[in-house]
Amino acid sequence: MITKSDSFVLLLLYYTLLPLVWLFFYFVIGDNSRGNIVLIEDKSHEHEIQKELEYVSAHDLLTGLLNRRGLHNRMEDFIAHENHQTRYSLLFFLDLNQFKGINDSLGHSVGDAVLLNVSKRLQDTMGENVTLSRLGGDEFIVIMPYVSDEETFAKEEAHKHASFILTLFDEPFVIGELHLHMSVSMGIVIVEPKQNNIEEIIRHADISMYHAKKSTGNISYYDKVLDERQKELFGLQHDLAYAVEKKQFEMFFQPIIGIKDNALYASEALIRWYHPTKGLLTPDAFIPLAIKAGLLSNITWWVLDEVCQHIVSWKKLGIWKLDYVSINVNAQQFVEKNFAKEFLKKLQAYGLETKDILVEITERSLIESFDSTQDVINELRSEGVRCAIDDFGTGYSSLSYLKKLSFHTLKIDREFVKDIESNPEELLLVSTILDIGRQFNYNIVIEGIEDKKQKDLLLGLDEGLKYQGYHFSKPLHAEVFQEKFLS
Ligand code: C2E
Ligand code: MG
Ligand code: MG
Repeated sequence: MITKSDSFVLLLLYYTLLPLVWLFFYFVIGDNSRGNIVLIEDKSHEHEIQKELEYVSAHDLLTGLLNRRGLHNRMEDFIAHENHQTRYSLLFFLDLNQFKGINDSLGHSVGDAVLLNVSKRLQDTMGENVTLSRLGGDEFIVIMPYVSDEETFAKEEAHKHASFILTLFDEPFVIGELHLHMSVSMGIVIVEPKQNNIEEIIRHADISMYHAKKSTGNISYYDKVLDERQKELFGLQHDLAYAVEKKQFEMFFQPIIGIKDNALYASEALIRWYHPTKGLLTPDAFIPLAIKAGLLSNITWWVLDEVCQHIVSWKKLGIWKLDYVSINVNAQQFVEKNFAKEFLKKLQAYGLETKDILVEITERSLIESFDSTQDVINELRSEGVRCAIDDFGTGYSSLSYLKKLSFHTLKIDREFVKDIESNPEELLLVSTILDIGRQFNYNIVIEGIEDKKQKDLLLGLDEGLKYQGYHFSKPLHAEVFQEKFLS
């Protein structure tokens, strides 16, 4: 087989020599020999080179499989065929797991050998009319055309072939002394008859692969509903990037009150997004997206500014009577350099006391980044900023980290409150959590009390509890909150 560099030299020679030959005939032999010399262009040679050129541009030079361009050409033929009018086809998008690690740790020649072996296993086992291609890197696409005119049968076939492809990775890849155990993630697209948009088919393959990588089973089928949702989320993520500067966020406040006397004690600041077309969105619809897009940090600093401004204004008006306003901070953000220092600087800039703002950290995010959290909480605590564990009981509630971290407040998640009326065991569970909380001397806030009965049951457990819930008030827009509870 001709290599890339060989064909380059051939081409160079061809294209530089051919004009020289022409010039030679024209000027040297030129005029006086006109009519005598017949220049015979070597058409067969040109044709050969043309063919090589076509091969090189359509094939992956390492494995000899079709490359991205070759695949595209093949797919054009594939959709143009009359069978595509009535029959379903299958596309498998394979991506090796941890391939980068092999390249990085064992070198590119080992990486290349793995790719070559994978391609060989595919070539040796896939049938004649199956299209195999390597898109570059560790990505392969396998197309089985026109498997059935019935969707259910096509799906069964897809399942069968996917399972088979997985077995190709059962045996280790032997490269020199190395025995490498490889696994693969696979996105699967059932290509519908008459589906004529190649870019769209490849995009579906991409999406299913993306899900396969995320899922535990290594395989994922393309799903229209997921796709629509993905598109919508993508749009939302895009909008989110501009929401701060377009001033689309607003802070809401929900009172936290004494369970015995209904006295206003504190309040939690909760963000809301006024989306231009979707209307009012609660944080569950966009905080996870913000995390994924790396936008949460901006949002948190915006929230802190807003909350500080509100407190300053309430103090100025002489209506500030809360022990604190709490804000929600995702523990992942604590890896930010100097988080605690920047936080304290901000409070100072607004002339606030460090006890005015309490930082709520969900138990779940805490566990994901425990070490950095520990340092930040200690630093904040040493300056007088109090911290709470939020949604307690929904993560891996562990006494060991309660001991290590100096929290001020424990917020018991509303999951525990939901069913206490109908299920006495739930009430017992809350009672046990309260015991733990008291042992650590925590201030305890119960979340999500929605009716009087729940409240009375919990009051029976401990009169010193604070609570937050629709029974007393939903979160309210800052102005309404001020009007209703502070003025
Ligand atoms: P969270 O910190 O646990 O906040 C309490 C959530 O429970 C709020 O939901 C509140 O509206 C809701 N809630 C309060 N009482 C009741 C009740 O009686 N029944 C029911 N069903 N729900 C009640 P929201 O405002 O939708 O916020 C959801 C979560 O989003 C918050 O849970 C918090 O983790 C996160 N979040 C809110 N604002 C921010 C923010 O500014 N930054 C970050 N990072 N996260 C935020
Ligand atoms: Mg909270
Ligand atoms: Mg909570």
